[in-house]
Amino acid sequence: MRMELHILGTSSARPTGKRQVSGSLIQCDEGIVVIDAGEGFQTRYADQRKRLKTYDKGNTLRASRINAVCLTHGHLDHTWGLLPWMHTMALDKRETPLLILGPTSSEVFDAVIAGEPIPDFAPSAELARQIKGCQELGGTSESLGYSVRWVLGDLAENRWLEMGDDGVATPLKTMPQPEGWKKNRMHPLATHHTVPSCAWMIESKGGIGKFNRLKAAELRLSDEQKTQLSAGNDLILEDGTSLKSQDFRGKERPATRFVVSGDTSEMSKGITSLSEIDVLVHESTFLNDAQQWADEFLHSTSTGAARTALACKARHLVLTHFSARLKDATVPLSEATQILESSSTVVSAAVDGDRITISDSGSISHLVWADDGWVS
Ligand SMILES: [Zn+2]
Ligand SMILES: [Zn+2]
Repeated sequence: MRMELHILGTSSARPTGKRQVSGSLIQCDEGIVVIDAGEGFQTRYADQRKRLKTYDKGNTLRASRINAVCLTHGHLDHTWGLLPWMHTMALDKRETPLLILGPTSSEVFDAVIAGEPIPDFAPSAELARQIKGCQELGGTSESLGYSVRWVLGDLAENRWLEMGDDGVATPLKTMPQPEGWKKNRMHPLATHHTVPSCAWMIESKGGIGKFNRLKAAELRLSDEQKTQLSAGNDLILEDGTSLKSQDFRGKERPATRFVVSGDTSEMSKGITSLSEIDVLVHESTFLNDAQQWADEFLHSTSTGAARTALACKARHLVLTHFSARLKDATVPLSEATQILESSSTVVSAAVDGDRITISDSGSISHLVWADDGWVS
């Protein structure tokens, strides 16, 4: 498996009987990234681990493998579970560094980097305020006992800063990536909401296929010959047989792109400017008949999510972030399906606990949590 997303909350703004607020984890071979951590995140994360223990042994989602938290915006249904969970990880004697990233506005960025107070006009959900608050409530490397980096980005200008434990902001040259990551990268994608916001893309680089050691062994090749073939050089053996290096390679691994939106109106430029996404997890707060609400509160409708998926040529669209008014996702799913009918984009709707996987060969599966295991 190349990548796996665990969706731990699919409700917008407030929890309902079946759905909790936002929070997801993306697992790749180099680690795990959390995307948003709304109220009660740690409980849902622990529940998911228990489910895995029972129904998919070996897939553990260990906290020590979590390298980063990517916040999409400051609304509390996306952030309010972060600090309590960080405290729990301190109790569990976490040692792995934690990188926390989120978007802000150019105006707030200017004020913070100049050491000035956060301007009054900045919204109450401004992430810079929340980071300061979290630091005052013990969200620092010193009081947690593991390294925590709080990083804010002004996406319009592609500027990044780190808010230090001492309250001093330091400019960064680029957005930091998790320590030690080589094959996977996190990218913010600008979106459009009532506060500064972004979607997050986790991209896994493609690569050449695996070297076929068995085939080389069967031909009794020397180490030197194997090294040559593995480095891409063709060989001619003493008996005149020619060996092509490409015949010793498995199938090339395609690059993989997973995009998870936070709250946003449809067709946000950061997402539509991409061409070719494997999985787009997009908010779908309202039904099609509530387009005026979507426009007013800068959210998407089910059909808006589908139009966005078409624009970025997503192979698979997953709808999430449903209004508490909806009983289930039947209607948003059928509305989105109509828009995507003549395209090759597959659409599905998420419930809490679902897993979306991309295999090594690039095939996508949506595993639905069904109370006693996952069904595809
Ligand atoms: Zn939300
Ligand atoms: Zn929001």
